Amino acid sequence: MTSSKGLSPIGGDPSPYECPNCASPNTVYEEYITNDPEDSELGIICDDCEHQVEPGNGFDMEDE
Ligand SMILES: [Zn+2]
Repeated sequence: MTSSKGLSPIGGDPSPYECPNCASPNTVYEEYITNDPEDSELGIICDDCEHQVEPGNGFDMEDE
């Protein structure tokens, strides 16, 4: 069930994920630049408690 429309969320966009720390739905995407300049990974940051979740840190961003 993967629909790719060429739209990729960027840092600052609201994310549909809940904060794993305080369960707040007020999270936004945060973009992490990797070693490959054409590749970036997305994590989330919580607006309420500022908890950050980095990609590849046990948080499965692929799971919908
Ligand atoms: Zn939070």
